[in-house]
Amino acid sequence: MNIILMGPPGAGKGTQAELIKKSFPIPHISTGDMFREAVANGTAMGKEAKKYMDAGQLVPDEVTIGIVEDRLAQDDCEKGFLLDGFPRTTLQAQALDKVVAKRGKSVEVALNIFVPEDILLLRLSSRVSCTTCKAVYNTKFSAPATAGICDQCGGKLAQRNDDKEETVKSRLKVYQEQTQPLLDYYEEQKNLINIDGNRDSAEVFKDVKAILEKL
Ligand code: ADP
Ligand code: ADP
Ligand code: ZN
Repeated sequence: MNIILMGPPGAGKGTQAELIKKSFPIPHISTGDMFREAVANGTAMGKEAKKYMDAGQLVPDEVTIGIVEDRLAQDDCEKGFLLDGFPRTTLQAQALDKVVAKRGKSVEVALNIFVPEDILLLRLSSRVSCTTCKAVYNTKFSAPATAGICDQCGGKLAQRNDDKEETVKSRLKVYQEQTQPLLDYYEEQKNLINIDGNRDSAEVFKDVKAILEKL
């Protein structure tokens, strides 16, 4: 199972990935999570990536492609992978095709979650996540039982640095300019499946699950 989750910031990629993981035993690879971890650990790559993330820009392709290639080379990816937030540029998509082709495989499906921009802005301005276990909540749509506290581990919830209004605007523009064209790339490969993400996340997952069960 080689699956890609696509969609603009706030579409619900991370939320669907968490649900997919419970039903399908494949590793969830989120480049955003990998970069945030590198930032938190203060590595050289993290310091470099942070400059771009805080500005709402993409981390350069050579860095991003490098970390994904290393991750996909690990044993747990042999049976497949669920990529979340990668590829985001045509160069990244081509690099991914090469890596999977080397193993005699191909990307099976690119699930594109689409959501109107006004809803994305609303979701991103109210997204919070656990500083300990990284669980994602929404103060408007899926609030924790106690404000500011993680239901799963009791950790503190915080807003992401790049979910501030001006950064979000730049991320949405970057998405339109650099990532949206990739939808044509996967459409041409006949791998693109569009999913209406402007519904309850359980409803969205019903569709996602039905698609993945057929693979
Ligand atoms: P969201 O899901 O809200 O779009 P992510 O967590 O996927 O955000 O990504 C956060 C940031 O990490 C991006 O704005 C970008 O700076 C960087 N990033 C993540 N994935 C990639 C990628 N594939 N290519 C370049 N930069 C990336
Ligand atoms: P992405 O990974 O695509 O950036 P997330 O999964 O982090 O998106 O979701 C963005 C925000 O919207 C989070 O606060 C999340 O709790 C919330 N969210 C995700 N899916 C839905 C949905 N179907 N309806 C309402 N809110 C949602
Ligand atoms: Zn937690």
